[in-house]
Amino acid sequence: VYVTGLTCLRCGTRYDWLGEAYLCPSCGPGPDPTDAGVLDVDYDYDAARGELLGAGGLASDRRDLFRFLPLLPVEQPGPVPPAGNTPLYEASRLGRRLGVSALHLKDEARNPTRALKDRATAIAVTRAKALGHEDIFCASAGNAAISLAGFSAFAGLRAHAFVPRDASAVRLNWLQRFGADVRRSEGDYDEAYEEAEGKRSDGWYSRNCAFNPFQVEGKKTAALEIGEQLGWKSPDLVVCAVGDACTLAAIGKGFRELTRLGLADRLPRLIGVQAAAVHPVADMFDSRHGREPLPVGGVTKAVSINVGKPRNARRLLTELEESGGLMLSVTDDQIAAAQTELARDAGVVAEFTSAAALAGLQALAERESVAGKSVALIITGGRPDDA
Ligand SMILES: *Cc1c(COP(=O)(O)O)cnc(C)c1O
Ligand SMILES: [Zn+2]
Repeated sequence: VYVTGLTCLRCGTRYDWLGEAYLCPSCGPGPDPTDAGVLDVDYDYDAARGELLGAGGLASDRRDLFRFLPLLPVEQPGPVPPAGNTPLYEASRLGRRLGVSALHLKDEARNPTRALKDRATAIAVTRAKALGHEDIFCASAGNAAISLAGFSAFAGLRAHAFVPRDASAVRLNWLQRFGADVRRSEGDYDEAYEEAEGKRSDGWYSRNCAFNPFQVEGKKTAALEIGEQLGWKSPDLVVCAVGDACTLAAIGKGFRELTRLGLADRLPRLIGVQAAAVHPVADMFDSRHGREPLPVGGVTKAVSINVGKPRNARRLLTELEESGGLMLSVTDDQIAAAQTELARDAGVVAEFTSAAALAGLQALAERESVAGKSVALIITGGRPDDA
């Protein structure tokens, strides 16, 4: 393991690597749920590089996310189904219609439980098993919990899923099928999150991505794969739907690591997309740039990004600055149209939330020219939506 320690993204304190770590002991959850003391994992990149380029990494025939083991916070892969190794492919008809030079789709629906969340779960289950835990939990509108339930079924862990009151029937069915213990909140996702975090005192292992600092490490492998799949040439733009902000922030970290290792020529601009009805990260971004917040209100069908209190906002805002990126929000009508276009013009099975990425790229094209740009669009999940 090349981990050298953990740094608090809020106060900057450095800590030694511990077996189990959640929030910064000094900051803790703090008064503002969107600005807790989230920790970030540091590595000795000079030491990791040789191993990554050699038999312990890219020269191995390992294809799942443990291909990047030297950049992961685990000693060895645990008992998990193969996560990652999802295809990146060019959708040329759709790309031509948008006027970009190349539209690459990173199809995360090819993961074992059909969502990018599996990358984080692979790390959570590996670490929980290594630490001797039997119970593992998360708060989730569906995909993270289903991922956790499926991987727990594989590994023989008890999964506890804290879901919002309005969790979708399709998703609840999968949780039941995977044998998870489902705890339905009286409230929304933000309340389910708080109820879940209360269970850590029972000795359960937390898979919550903004509390458990090791989760982002799994998600960043999406970026490491994109780098390798493009022959170590970064796309101009990476576009992704944003809820808690862990996913796109993790992708930003992955690309920074690649540049640090000399495996990427530059950082792509990160474009985060939220729903017009719920866009707190876009507001935070706008207020940093002296712009008035956009109006909010109404509901969104983009359940996986229906997050009022984004728990990893600070991390993403920093990555956006580093990459010269930005946040956008799109209406449900725009998302619905994008979901249909992904199907009609590229044959893609994208769930509603994932299609926000394409709607965001189209919204970006209204603000600035995307002509000649190469784009990686993250299809974060492909579970069928409720009718
Ligand atoms: C979780 C999820 C997202 C957003 O990820 P965050 O880390 O919450 O920003 C986007 N799309 C899908 C399909 C998801 O499941
Ligand atoms: Zn701190």
